[in-house]
Amino acid sequence: MTKRTVEQCLSISTRDVLSQRGGVYHGTVCWEWFGGRKSSIAYTTDWRNASPTLVLVYCDDADGNGLVRLPIDLQSTRLRHGGQRWWFLCPIEYDGMPCGRRCGTLHLPPSGDIFGCRQCHDLSYASSQDAHQLERLIDQIDRSSASWIRDIGMTKSPEKTVDPTS
Ligand SMILES: [Zn+2]
Repeated sequence: MTKRTVEQCLSISTRDVLSQRGGVYHGTVCWEWFGGRKSSIAYTTDWRNASPTLVLVYCDDADGNGLVRLPIDLQSTRLRHGGQRWWFLCPIEYDGMPCGRRCGTLHLPPSGDIFGCRQCHDLSYASSQDAHQLERLIDQIDRSSASWIRDIGMTKSPEKTVDPTS
């Protein structure tokens, strides 16, 4: 069973929604899927206070519950050469406590209703699954070339067995 992948999700990065700094800003992020289906979410950022806020607004396709209004906490880290980098804090809650993991991208899986980090949604990258397939393929080639070498007699001669009755 293959894991759900990041590529199957709607994903937003801090670049998508935090590039507009200062004041209050309303924007949308749109995706076009293979086959032409489109998805979009709206967001609002408010940079008027020392700690800015971000709210995502989107339609919950999974159970058609209508609009989801999801506030996302933000955190900044200082960059070595000056300036700062902003991060999302994952909002998915466990027993009322948010995951809070710092991440540059949040994901909404096809069946999900809340954006969250890769770990909470247990996502892998399709490219890493490809890498595993490649490893298996190389393994198969290794084995088949090994049998080919045996066929033409290039392997070590089999170890001699001693017949205990002799
Ligand atoms: Zn999380």
